[in-house]
Amino acid sequence: MDTYMSLTAYGKNAQTALTDASRKINELERMLSTTIPDSEVAKLNETLHFRVSDETAALLRTSLQYTQSTDGAFDMTIAPIVNAWGITTDAPRVPDENEIAFLLNYVGSTHVHLDGNTVTLDAGSAVDLGGIAKGYASDCVAKIFASSGIASGCISLGGNVYVCGNKPDGKAWSVAIQDPQSNNYAATVALSDAFAVTSGGYQRYFTAENGTVYQHIIDPKTGYPVQSDLMSVTIIADNGTMADAYSTALYVMGEKGAVDFWRANADSFDMVLITADGRLLYTPNLQNKISEPEGASYDFQVIDR
Ligand code: AMP
Ligand code: MG
Repeated sequence: MDTYMSLTAYGKNAQTALTDASRKINELERMLSTTIPDSEVAKLNETLHFRVSDETAALLRTSLQYTQSTDGAFDMTIAPIVNAWGITTDAPRVPDENEIAFLLNYVGSTHVHLDGNTVTLDAGSAVDLGGIAKGYASDCVAKIFASSGIASGCISLGGNVYVCGNKPDGKAWSVAIQDPQSNNYAATVALSDAFAVTSGGYQRYFTAENGTVYQHIIDPKTGYPVQSDLMSVTIIADNGTMADAYSTALYVMGEKGAVDFWRANADSFDMVLITADGRLLYTPNLQNKISEPEGASYDFQVIDR
């Protein structure tokens, strides 16, 4: 998945659970990657009409639901624009305005037609599950851990963390949130049985000739990389797929949009926002779980309901 992954499990069935989990992650990558030429997603994008597996069909449906619930901030049909910028590739570039305006015609859920497992895309459209696939993979690993009777474990798939149960010593896991501006961490959160997913502009970006920094998350409304007032968004929830979709979407929304969205959906997740002006905002449920590292570089503030 073009990232570092680490998987840890404790207990009797740990070795089998880890083998099954890494097998599942590799299988998902072979199904969902846009860059592996014979993946289901690559074939769909290439042929525009393809019969996918039950699992891929379900994830495409889930993605469409999150596009709806985030009012288009998360949108897998952003693919043509992602490809035009090529920010995570070896050859990133700045497309001109006309090209972006043209490609925006092919972005939007209305270009995806699902009939059972048969998917049809309008000509010019394509899908990219990069904003949700790792979260989905973490849900799958959580299920494997549960069915293997793993009571304690943790996984990290490039910014997507899942902690199973508590640490072997019975205490909650301590999940670190990366400081977008250094190699240290900005905060730690004590969690058990939870997913914590971070999106941020600092993770993948390129610097254009004129010095402008373009990061990898695109605003589907404009076709441009988001120039956010946030440096990172961490979503904490009991659903990895949702947490991944929301972390990408709330980064697009920016501070005000993210806070409003959380207020409207406060029952379903918690979050930590790191703002460009040096604040670290967290939701009230995290009050007794979040800790500032020594010499913290951010101004910690709780978000009002
Ligand atoms: P994440 O790291 O989960 O925030 O996902 C970022 C990746 O999702 C990018 O590298 C793109 O492949 C893709 N992407 C970019 N912008 C969007 C968007 N607005 N909605 C959905 N996926 C996106
Ligand atoms: Mg995401």
